[in-house]
Amino acid sequence: MIVTFDHSVDEAGNIATFYFETEKLIHYTAGQFVELTLKHAHPDKRGIKRWFTLSSSPNEKLISITTKFAKEHGSSYKKALKSLKKGEQLTISDPMGDFVLPKLIQTPLIFVAGGIGITPFKSILSWLSEVAEKRPIKMLVGVNNEDEIVFQDVINKSKIHTTVVVSEPSNAWGGEVGRLSSELILGLEEPSDETLIYISGPEPMVEHLEKDLKKAGVKKDQLVLDYFPNYGEKY
Ligand SMILES: Cc1cc2nc3c(=O)[nH]c(=O)nc-3n(C[C@H](O)[C@H](O)[C@H](O)COP(=O)(O)OP(=O)(O)OC[C@H]3O[C@@H](n4cnc5c(N)ncnc54)[C@H](O)[C@@H]3O)c2cc1C
Repeated sequence: MIVTFDHSVDEAGNIATFYFETEKLIHYTAGQFVELTLKHAHPDKRGIKRWFTLSSSPNEKLISITTKFAKEHGSSYKKALKSLKKGEQLTISDPMGDFVLPKLIQTPLIFVAGGIGITPFKSILSWLSEVAEKRPIKMLVGVNNEDEIVFQDVINKSKIHTTVVVSEPSNAWGGEVGRLSSELILGLEEPSDETLIYISGPEPMVEHLEKDLKKAGVKKDQLVLDYFPNYGEKY
């Protein structure tokens, strides 16, 4: 499907949201992603296609994606994205993925977002607020520094119990300090057999937490995972 770039909004630090108009109504579930093709002059080896979670809620007129820009060695794709002008056209795939809410409204949920991995939760929390649906959710957000904290307005509006943990805070930071870990996740609340733990973020981080949580006794089918590739080698 063809989409038309409308505008972008700087969220914080190197993070921005890009809004697009769709040629016809697009149906998706909060938490799903698309492949976005951006043709541009002289693409590098990383090419002209990327997967992005839709950070918009399915109720919004425009669809959006939110991404982080590397301080150095950023791709030609991201440079082209940053220089989009209103009216330019791109192509998206159909929305896909199962990083979505479970059908049973009473299922206890733990949401864990690592940095830019906040995007599917932004969509899900916006949607829950819009439809006034209440779910038992606890959320943990991990960032490197305060500059990476985004969508606080959406989180606050959702009234979901959220802990933000910063690994390299400034002196002004008065909150939790540290990195996302299985201890922090399991410390939020003792998961029952029904609890689902959703984790989204850079691939090495998600893999690390997956391994540690399984070691701590969490069953494979209690984990719902969204791996973002190309955001670093290790965790
Ligand atoms: C299901 C799914 C959902 C996703 N959702 C999102 C989302 O909502 N938001 C989002 O931002 N991303 C998302 N991603 C990841 C996205 O598709 C890109 O992989 C990511 O944004 C990195 O983009 P980039 O390759 O243009 O690198 P850049 O962002 O430009 O750079 C990232 C890093 O790559 C390093 N790098 C340098 N050279 C190379 C090289 N040759 N190959 C690889 N890396 C190199 C850079 O040093 C830099 O640190 C998602 C991925 C999946 C699979």
